[in-house]
Amino acid sequence: MRNFIFSSYIGPVFVRIIPPFGRPSCAVADLATAMDPTDLIEATDGIAPLSSSSTVVPMARAMETLGSLVPCNPDELFSATRFASMFSDVAYEFHSKYALSRRSGSSGGSYTSDLLDDLAIARGGDSLLVVERITDWALARDLTSLALRVLGHLAPGKETPMEDSCFVAYDNSYHIQLADTPLLDLLADEKGRFGGEDGVHLYDDRSLSIDAQIGGQRAAAAKFLRALQAAGMRFPLKGDDAGAEGWEFTDDFSSPNPHLKCRGRSTLSQLLFDAIYHEDARITFCKVCGNAILARKGRGRPRDYCSEICRDMWNDMFANGKS
Ligand SMILES: [Zn+2]
Repeated sequence: MRNFIFSSYIGPVFVRIIPPFGRPSCAVADLATAMDPTDLIEATDGIAPLSSSSTVVPMARAMETLGSLVPCNPDELFSATRFASMFSDVAYEFHSKYALSRRSGSSGGSYTSDLLDDLAIARGGDSLLVVERITDWALARDLTSLALRVLGHLAPGKETPMEDSCFVAYDNSYHIQLADTPLLDLLADEKGRFGGEDGVHLYDDRSLSIDAQIGGQRAAAAKFLRALQAAGMRFPLKGDDAGAEGWEFTDDFSSPNPHLKCRGRSTLSQLLFDAIYHEDARITFCKVCGNAILARKGRGRPRDYCSEICRDMWNDMFANGKS
C-alpha cells in the first residue's frame, strides 16, 4: 500500500492504509537515514501506527476522515524538498512548500484517485486508515538518528561525541533542535526533563539541552542516551497513560537458550529501543553529511552514503572538482 500526504488543520499529515493485524517492525536503519519526505514515506510503509497520538479509523469511516483533509500533490510538495539542516527545518519546509502548492492552484487530482484506488482494494478487508502528523515521524527520525550518531561517536578514544553529533555547545551545555510536534511533550515529564532525566531539558522552542558541567562531552553523551532510553521505556511520561506505550521485557523460557527480550508497546518505543540496542549491527557515517548508517555485520562493505541525495551530491562535487 502507498502512503499519501494531505494537509489538515494540524499541519501536513501522512495518510496510510495498514493491515489490521501484526505490527511489521519499522527498519530503524531506513528511518534514521530518511533525508527527505519520500524517504520518510518509504520507511513508514505498512508500519503500525507510531503512537496513540496517531489517528486510526476503520475503512468504513475512511471517506469521512478524508473529507476533512486537503490533498497535496506530492510532486510539488516534494520537489527540491529535503531536510535543510539535519534536524530542525523539516516542519517549516513542509509548511512553506504546501503554501506554494496551494497558491499555484494544485488540486492533486490523480493523487487523490490513487488513494481512492487503494481504499477500494482495502475496503473488503479489515485494513485501517492511519492519519499522522509528518512531524511526528520526523521526530522519530530525529531521535533514532541522534541515538545512532551519539553511539557511533562514543567509540573509545573519541572525545567530542556531542559536537560530532551536531549538538551545539553554549553555556556549559549541548543543544539540539528537534521536530516541532506535541508528541515531543510526552517524552518529557512535568518539569520539562526529557525522559525524566536530570540535566536533560526540553524547552518550549523544541530545543533539547544536555547539561555538561561535570564530565565533559562523553558524560553528556551518556546522559543523553540514558534520557532517550528512559523516554522510550516509559513513554508517554505524562498524563493518565504514563508509561503505557513504553517497553516491556519478556523472558522466553520455552527456548533452549532463555534470553531477555524487549517489546515496544508502540512503534515509537520499539524504534527507540532498536536504535539504542542495535544487536549485530555497526554504525558507520555518511561521507557527505555525517549521518549515522546502521549496517548489519558481515554484509559486505558498509555504505558510504546515507541516501541517494548524498550519493548524488558526492558525484556532483567530484565531477565539478575534476572539470
Ligand atoms: Zn548523507
